[in-house]
Amino acid sequence: MTKRTLTVGFIGLGSMGSGMTRNLQASGFPLVVTDVRPEAAADAVSRGAVWVDTAAEVASRSDLVITMLPTPRHVDQVLRGPDGLLDALPQGGTWVDMSTSVPEVAERARADRPDLRVLDAPVSGMSVGAANGTLQIFIGGDADDVERLREVFEAMGEPERILHVGGHGAGYAVKLMINQLWFSHLIATAEVLSVGVKAGVDLEVLRRALVASPANSNFVEHDVLSILDHGDYDEGFALALACKDLGLSSDLARSVGMPYELSGLVDQQFRRAKAMYGERAGEMAPFRLYEDLLGEPLRRAQATAGVAR
Ligand code: NAD
Repeated sequence: MTKRTLTVGFIGLGSMGSGMTRNLQASGFPLVVTDVRPEAAADAVSRGAVWVDTAAEVASRSDLVITMLPTPRHVDQVLRGPDGLLDALPQGGTWVDMSTSVPEVAERARADRPDLRVLDAPVSGMSVGAANGTLQIFIGGDADDVERLREVFEAMGEPERILHVGGHGAGYAVKLMINQLWFSHLIATAEVLSVGVKAGVDLEVLRRALVASPANSNFVEHDVLSILDHGDYDEGFALALACKDLGLSSDLARSVGMPYELSGLVDQQFRRAKAMYGERAGEMAPFRLYEDLLGEPLRRAQATAGVAR
């Protein structure tokens, strides 16, 4: 294992952060960590990470600090106050926010501390990608900072999927737009399949016709099969976090003065599903809204399942 010279501070060792810190350690980076739940960091500490009680201590003992927190509000909490990152980062220090968030929080931080090197670097790939070190990472900020920290990103993601997508805020925007489009595909597919089935068409015949048509999508070809074959609505990513992302996506559209009619509609359907099936239901649970209207789950017959995949 290569011994690395950069000490990485890491705040937020939840579903994603726990895998990411394991991979940073496996790549030889010394870590300084904290979380509001000390038990979340127990594994990292058992592998040699240094535990500290506050974000300020993380900042003063690391060469760069990564945050991986649920929402912009949590990121702001960690930045501010006497124990916060912002006052404790050294002159010219580096902060990388890998949370799915919106640009405002980091913009305010950069206004308060113009000397800091700041990158937004949200990810795709779910907790399994975090655990396997195969995340896709969308980075906004200065190119020289991206190159300087490339070995850190490569410890957590696949090298060819670590993308410098533009200036500050571009990483957040790309991540939110990917989620927005995927959630829109989910609702559109649920509607089309349930109407077609209600009209008397066989589910798999309809799906294959869609796959062979100009209306095909990755969702209808691949992702929907976890529901149609296994009734799996992906509880690895909670509906509460999906609703958070859709809300942030609408906030982003509003902040740049663009209409967001479709996002608003998809957002409302996800919120309806959260009210009906609970915050911890899987991110694909809104599909069930249509299954409930149909009066039966949409499932492929097992005999055809293997053939069409
Ligand atoms: P999580 O809730 O599992 O983990 C967040 C961690 O942050 C928790 O351990 C929590 O205790 C800690 N935390 C909260 N407030 C804190 C504070 N003030 N100080 C220190 N620690 C604090 O969330 P997650 O699933 O790991 O997601 C993290 C981010 O990654 C979110 O923005 C999410 O949208 C995004 N994301 C998640 C997934 C996924 O599949 N889970 C995939 C891609 C992106």
